[in-house]
Amino acid sequence: MRRAVVTGGAGFLGSHLCERLLDDGYQVICLDNFVTGSPANVEHLLESADFRMVRCDLVDYIHVPGPVDLVLHFASPASPVDYLQLPIETLTVGAIGTLHALGLAREKGARFILASSSETYGDPREHPQREDYWGHVNPVGPRGVYDEAKRYAEALTMAYRRAHGVNTGIARIFNTYGERMRPGDGRAIPAFVTQAIRGVPLTIAGDGSQTRSVQYVGDLVEGVSRFAASDHPGPMNLGNPDELTVHEIATRIRALVGSSSELVYIPRPEDDPMVRRPDIALATKVLDGWEPRTGFDEGIARTIAWFRTALDPDGGQEQV
Ligand code: NAD
Repeated sequence: MRRAVVTGGAGFLGSHLCERLLDDGYQVICLDNFVTGSPANVEHLLESADFRMVRCDLVDYIHVPGPVDLVLHFASPASPVDYLQLPIETLTVGAIGTLHALGLAREKGARFILASSSETYGDPREHPQREDYWGHVNPVGPRGVYDEAKRYAEALTMAYRRAHGVNTGIARIFNTYGERMRPGDGRAIPAFVTQAIRGVPLTIAGDGSQTRSVQYVGDLVEGVSRFAASDHPGPMNLGNPDELTVHEIATRIRALVGSSSELVYIPRPEDDPMVRRPDIALATKVLDGWEPRTGFDEGIARTIAWFRTALDPDGGQEQV
């Protein structure tokens, strides 16, 4: 039986990946310190004999007995609210945590996938962003802790590939949304969905004309799964090229919730990117025609349904 380690497996993306790997017949070992994730995200998997949850901080060490075929390294605070509150933790898990995860892949002869980010492109000067664009990042701005952690993790991953022959793959993931995001994590979609359900104003950063390309979590999981099964080194963009303004995202969510919340405008965060859109030609070519299949309205409707339960004091747990 194949065995996979998912770091950050109790987080938003990691928990969906653990589910998928179990469905694909893997034994799954989830490593997480719950700094931004929650055991509740994987509670439903604990009944499977093939799933193990291990609480540990990757910055200390990683020890996994027995063989491992695949390491999916997804541990890192990921939302701006989280990484601005946890700047040192973000840098150390990106640097030392990635070193330890690469060491595990090397020791076991496993394929290693790094969850990198579209944030490596910073506030881009090329649009859409192709993998050969080197980015436009402010290393000393507040967001630098996340962007530079990811850029360093990419460099370390390539060094392990070149120096130690580890079978590595770098996935540059663009904004992804779906079930199990935390209402208070500061990202636009959970914020708008929560605000619309509660009937309070939707807070738009700036004038809302900045664009985002948002991908439903199911599409990302399919892309990561195909990428892991390939031998391609990346970097490879995984995202949805349908570009929407933040204003459009807010108004469409409001309509789908059936809310009459007003829109209010708040200052844009420092170094907030103005545009974002992946060029996914590489992924489509290498990953057997992969492209996002879930339309915005469909993915958002599923997300709204999940948030309604999570926010309902009688029907679910508030996970803010
Ligand atoms: P998340 O915060 O929900 O999940 C991250 C998980 O990592 C959490 O469960 C957290 O507790 C764990 N973690 C953090 N530091 C750790 C440490 N030192 N030791 C052990 N566990 C630790 O975030 P997410 O949205 O699921 O993102 C997962 C990964 O994907 C991150 O690496 C993120 O940078 C990357 N990514 C996400 C997106 C997105 O849109 N969600 C986009 C680009 C990249």
